[in-house]
Amino acid sequence: MSDETVKYLLSEDRIPKAWYNVQADLPVPMAPVLHPGTGQPVGPDDLAPLFPMACIGQEVSTERDIEIPEPVRQVYRQWRPAPLYRARRLEEALDTPAHIYYKYEGVSPSGSHKPNTAVAQAFYNANEGVKKLTTETGAGQWGSSLAYAGSIFGLEVDVYMVKVSYHQKPYRRALMEAYGARCVPSPSTETASGRAILEQDPDSNGSLGIAISEAVELAAQRDDTKYSLGSVLNHVLLHQTVIGIEAIEQMEMAGEQPDVVIGCAGGGSNFGGLAFPFVGKKIREGMDVRIVAVEPAACPTLTRGTFAYDFGDTAHLTPLVKMHTLGSSFMPPGFHAGGLRYHGMSPIVSHLLDQGLIEAVSHHQTGCFEAGATFARAEGIIPAPESTHAVKEAVDEALRCKAEGVQRNILFNLSGHGHFDMAAYTEFFGGNLEDRDYDAKALETALQGLPPVAAE
Ligand SMILES: *Cc1c(COP(=O)(O)O)cnc(C)c1O
Repeated sequence: MSDETVKYLLSEDRIPKAWYNVQADLPVPMAPVLHPGTGQPVGPDDLAPLFPMACIGQEVSTERDIEIPEPVRQVYRQWRPAPLYRARRLEEALDTPAHIYYKYEGVSPSGSHKPNTAVAQAFYNANEGVKKLTTETGAGQWGSSLAYAGSIFGLEVDVYMVKVSYHQKPYRRALMEAYGARCVPSPSTETASGRAILEQDPDSNGSLGIAISEAVELAAQRDDTKYSLGSVLNHVLLHQTVIGIEAIEQMEMAGEQPDVVIGCAGGGSNFGGLAFPFVGKKIREGMDVRIVAVEPAACPTLTRGTFAYDFGDTAHLTPLVKMHTLGSSFMPPGFHAGGLRYHGMSPIVSHLLDQGLIEAVSHHQTGCFEAGATFARAEGIIPAPESTHAVKEAVDEALRCKAEGVQRNILFNLSGHGHFDMAAYTEFFGGNLEDRDYDAKALETALQGLPPVAAE
């Protein structure tokens, strides 16, 4: 057996056997999910039309370690453990005393962290006899990840893709079709939610909130069809914790501890995936670590949103969850990190911010692309536009270390590569990207439309 083979077997053995459930360690429990009709906490039966029982159980579980089913680990073997790199050339380029580490999730088949949960969700659905999954996608990363996972476990997958992305990102759509999924521009005429939007605005560009309404509506109508969400929900973030569990072990192998942990946050899943195992260490062992979520200045859910009960979608078909939200009718201005354009945020991430266990910052897109280009020139990897937000904060932190003359260890999540997003880089290099602010009036209106909730 060659040395390489031995190393391979060793590393494969390092794929975690259990996900980490941060709900087990929360000093204050989370607010319950509410039924929009009754205002009462939802039970498993309310969610059963949409999700498999295994995921519903995980949604509310307070067990710390949740076993990863062996068939899921078998699929993870293809790219996990994901590499942890020390960004030495970036450190040199920035002339910083900081040590910069990044966990690279772009090595998965679809090029981001999203298959970590897509594979688990497809497995649980197939295991419970489901034949078809519906979902939404913005930039296309989630749709292509679920399409990939569906092909492995023999599920049909229908993806409702935000119309503006459908036209802007034809290769993401082609990737979904290559995996055997059907990709429909949203709003579509296939659902009542889509038709209602088109009646008001035949040229609607669509939004994630609208696409979610379409996918949920279809799943609720059929017994053999369920809905799959790529971020936000507790079980989704649970599945992503393989990232942080591996990173803790890899940092130990490197002989260092991070002083700052950074992730970009759209719905919160890659951030939570890296951060939660460190949050657990912070709560249980008093680990001294700052944990920072980075969001786009044009869709500032954590830094400008309200922590309140809201719907997850535009047509108000979902249950009410307490989260940082900009209001379900909020439409962010156009910018390139499509995966960060959601009005809400993971309830757990929102809760941790509220409890002071994590921090949040926002950055404009041109600064992010600039940091992305600096990173690419030093490290050779093109970050996804979403991931450049984490890169930007890591670079800023490294420069603060330089200014203060102190050495700190920085760990960030490089959630995906940008190979399908080169049009955005082309615009950036051509000087055609601008920093657009959200419409403060529209935000105010959207927040005034938050549902009144008695239980608050
Ligand atoms: C989808 C996506 C994100 C944003 O989603 P989160 O749930 O916040 O992680 C970030 N980076 C990449 C590469 C993505 O595909």
